[in-house]
Amino acid sequence: MARNAIGWAAHDQSGILSPFKFSRRATGEQDVTLKVLYCGICHSDLHYVKNEWGHSTYPAVPGHEIVGIVTEVGSKVQNFKVGDKVGVGCMVGSCHSCSNCSDNLQNYCPKMILTYGSTYYDGTPTYGGYSNIMVVDEHFVVRVPESIPLDSAAPLLCAGITVYSPLKYYGLGKPGMHLGVNGLGGLGHVAVKFAKAFGAKVTVISTSPNKKDEAISRLGADSFLVSRDPDQMQAAASTMDGIIDTVSAFHPLQPLLSLLKSSGKLVMVGAPDKPLELPIFPLLMGRKMVGGSCIGGMKETQEMIDFAAKHGVKAEIEVIPIDHVNTAMDRMLKSDVRYRFVIDIGNTLKAN
Ligand code: NAP
Ligand code: ZN
Ligand code: ZN
Repeated sequence: MARNAIGWAAHDQSGILSPFKFSRRATGEQDVTLKVLYCGICHSDLHYVKNEWGHSTYPAVPGHEIVGIVTEVGSKVQNFKVGDKVGVGCMVGSCHSCSNCSDNLQNYCPKMILTYGSTYYDGTPTYGGYSNIMVVDEHFVVRVPESIPLDSAAPLLCAGITVYSPLKYYGLGKPGMHLGVNGLGGLGHVAVKFAKAFGAKVTVISTSPNKKDEAISRLGADSFLVSRDPDQMQAAASTMDGIIDTVSAFHPLQPLLSLLKSSGKLVMVGAPDKPLELPIFPLLMGRKMVGGSCIGGMKETQEMIDFAAKHGVKAEIEVIPIDHVNTAMDRMLKSDVRYRFVIDIGNTLKAN
């Protein structure tokens, strides 16, 4: 039987979230039902509730950095049982038959179903993890290793895989590489940690000089550049093999391309609402390349979180009660978060 769920939703592009009641489908044969304990606040949630990408539907229950405990499994579920600690990221469905799905790249399946803001197979809208329960096809559930605290594991489900996947695919996460990480927010800070765990040299490129000490002493970066300081940027010209660009707003690319050595790669993962300008001559002069990347497939997501457990990679978080969510969104917009807000759903989302 379908069951009552509670969450917080935005109802229009003001993006302001408030309590919302809805229903979740009954646990199907292949489904895992979980009690949500923690959910990270990704900047994509903010873009979405404010309709900055132009395709939002309302009511919108965001949240795709979800961890919780399994409370029920369907009769054909093979990999999970009641009591397991699990995570759900940005996707809850895909076609399972296209070439991307065959290659474990469900994230590039043309029929990929997002955790929120999509339409599920049964025609219902998908609602995300700012809610007390999730019902998810087991193919889109990962196991959270015992050694990672559940609250700081949550951001790995989106931020973690979004930077892990391109570090591997573009060959930037390995010893001998000098990587730039542009933007030290949710994605950026885990990019620093994964890249260091892979053995790369890492330079943070940031608009926030006050993040410098922590970037080096706490996150393990080797150096720090203030992107709005032309002298610092000039001094670092032609030194990087690659840059992961996590910035959420419009910004110039020319200064980043100048930091790359010849044959260097600029990899875009941030998703600003407006197109960026791509200067061509800096690409030609040094055969530089600009690429992109979107989250990661399910196999790689499990690999990422297992790697994180093995190498002690976890997100730096500020845990908040659900009724602070609107304030947290405002602070994230001002780059005022160290470095990810995580909502304590289990203890603070109550029926009244
Ligand atoms: P976030 O925590 O807000 O971090 C973004 C960082 O960008 C900020 O901390 C800030 O870092 C920098 N920044 C913000 N405004 C800027 C500006 N005007 N100019 C230059 N730098 C600026 O956001 P997030 O959750 O990491 O997400 C970042 C972006 O990635 C968002 O657009 C999100 O939608 C997107 N995203 C994409 C994927 C994917 O699969 N590709 C997955 C998740 C998220 P400093 O203070 O260091 O300058
Ligand atoms: Zn996200
Ligand atoms: Zn597919």
